[in-house]
Amino acid sequence: MAVHFEAYQKIMSALREQQVTLVAVSKTKPVEDIQQLYDAGHRDFGENYVQELLDKEAVLPKDIRWHFIGHLQTNKVKYIAPFVHLVHGVDSVKLLSEMDKQAQKNNRILPCLLQVHIAAEETKFGFDEQELVNLPDLSQFKHLAVQGVMGMASFSSNLPLVRNEFKHLKQLYDKMLAGGYRFNTLSMGMSGDYGIAVEEGSNMVRIGSLLFGERNYTS
Ligand SMILES: *Cc1c(COP(=O)(O)O)cnc(C)c1O
Repeated sequence: MAVHFEAYQKIMSALREQQVTLVAVSKTKPVEDIQQLYDAGHRDFGENYVQELLDKEAVLPKDIRWHFIGHLQTNKVKYIAPFVHLVHGVDSVKLLSEMDKQAQKNNRILPCLLQVHIAAEETKFGFDEQELVNLPDLSQFKHLAVQGVMGMASFSSNLPLVRNEFKHLKQLYDKMLAGGYRFNTLSMGMSGDYGIAVEEGSNMVRIGSLLFGERNYTS
């Protein structure tokens, strides 16, 4: 069987207790796998690539909550704006502005998270702390609901490092909350580090390979 149901049940029961939302990351996986998990009652799925998301959305049940967790290019916002449930990876004011425009066109409020660069690695996208402090007033984006932050820890077996990166993101989240942002979502934690992320205050984890098996290629 393609979906690892035993792992799913185990993860779900642990997360449910802590009121953490599980986003099942289905990138590169076939629609049959998503349908199987859907049939088991799951509704939150995460995808990284716009075209792949559009292809899947077209054939799968309409009550799936699609999370866009990849790097979103401004010229592709228009394709997912009509239906996407939450955009996790917003990393520029230009993207916020385009999302606001497309949300307005679709006559809806578009929920999103600010991606924050917390990893030691250079390659990860996201705002750094200074850029967050200098963000313009987000209330100008009348058709966006900026609900929190998302981050990825270093891909590392150095667990104290990973924990510190999550701690840092939680601190930023709390600071922005205290500063008046209407946040309710802290998206951090993947297959290899979600346990640490939850211990450090995550309330949304994005898990792929533990549920669907290893991917042939990664992003
Ligand atoms: C692929 C991906 C995940 C899931 O990764 P796994 O290690 O398979 O759990 C989570 N978040 C983002 C942003 C991803 O690109």
